[in-house]
Amino acid sequence: MATVSLESLKKSYGKLEVIHGVDIEIEDGEFIVIVGPSGCGKSTLLRMVAGLEGVSAGEVRINDQRVNEKEPMDRDIAMVFQNYALYPHMSVEQNMAYGLKIAKVPKPEIEARVDEAARLLQLEPYLKRRPRELSGGQRQRVAMGRAIVRRPSVFLFDEPLSNLDAKLRVQMRLEIKKLQRDLGVTALYVTHDQVEAMTLADRMIVMNDGVADQIGAPLEVYANPQTEFVAGFIGSPPTNFVVSEAVGAPAGTKVGIRPEHVAIVPAGDGRTTGAVLYAEPLGAETLVHLVIPGDQFFTVRQDGAVAIPAEGQQVGLTWSEDDEMRFGPDGRRI
Ligand code: ADP
Ligand code: MG
Repeated sequence: MATVSLESLKKSYGKLEVIHGVDIEIEDGEFIVIVGPSGCGKSTLLRMVAGLEGVSAGEVRINDQRVNEKEPMDRDIAMVFQNYALYPHMSVEQNMAYGLKIAKVPKPEIEARVDEAARLLQLEPYLKRRPRELSGGQRQRVAMGRAIVRRPSVFLFDEPLSNLDAKLRVQMRLEIKKLQRDLGVTALYVTHDQVEAMTLADRMIVMNDGVADQIGAPLEVYANPQTEFVAGFIGSPPTNFVVSEAVGAPAGTKVGIRPEHVAIVPAGDGRTTGAVLYAEPLGAETLVHLVIPGDQFFTVRQDGAVAIPAEGQQVGLTWSEDDEMRFGPDGRRI
């Protein structure tokens, strides 16, 4: 059981500052997802919590205790990486037991914990196998098992599902969420995948170039993005941004409208016009891609049962003013 606090946390490599001061109070048992594009500083942030990177400024606290100077093994955390980092010459059982053996945990205790983890992760039939005799999903489970047996207060995950195919990713995502809930362990989870973030997080930290642009519950962030970056990053297909002239807003502002909030109407009837480039019928829904005045791309997400406009056709685009999100020249929500 643990709370985690990050206070004005910064990281520099030489003169280059890559994390510019992140603050968050994480509650006991909370599932926090750190999400953002590649290079925005997600792994660096996580590794500072783990103790694998030094802290340049600010403080990391676990259960109200400063841990900046503590070794990773003294922080009561366990980390799961993208590449699993299993020992190839050891069996599943030995891989899971190894950390406990090093920590000189008594043998019967090790056996009990490994058995319990194997049961939780449905790895019992594979305990004697080597990693190379396992599927990607099973290897990922062993990596999870190795973290679980240590009974940490905090789980740290760095893109743990990136090496799995799409279907398995969805399945493992559900398993991780359930496991975290059942064990009641506080979790910090890094991903570049906004769908993963939306589905796993109690709260997410949306990172933009070393800054936590927004911290909040997934649906709250989706409904109320505080920056142009967050509006464009969270949600798929992404938010459309229209420069002010096209929709009559003050100069320098951009208006964001989500694809699902737009309806296609006859040309001349809408807030703006668009020329249909192409449509992607996906069954339940259709994505219609258009170009609007100012040569801007625009996407409409409509119900699969609605007629699809022909390529090249001029149409009107309309939406409710309530659904508009306005951003100033600094990218912040107005
Ligand atoms: P992410 O995990 O979001 O993809 P990282 O945390 O790995 O991003 O990296 C954040 C930034 O820090 C990147 O610009 C990266 O180039 C830089 N960086 C990471 N590690 C080092 C290092 N050891 N030395 C210098 N720069 C680094
Ligand atoms: Mg990373």
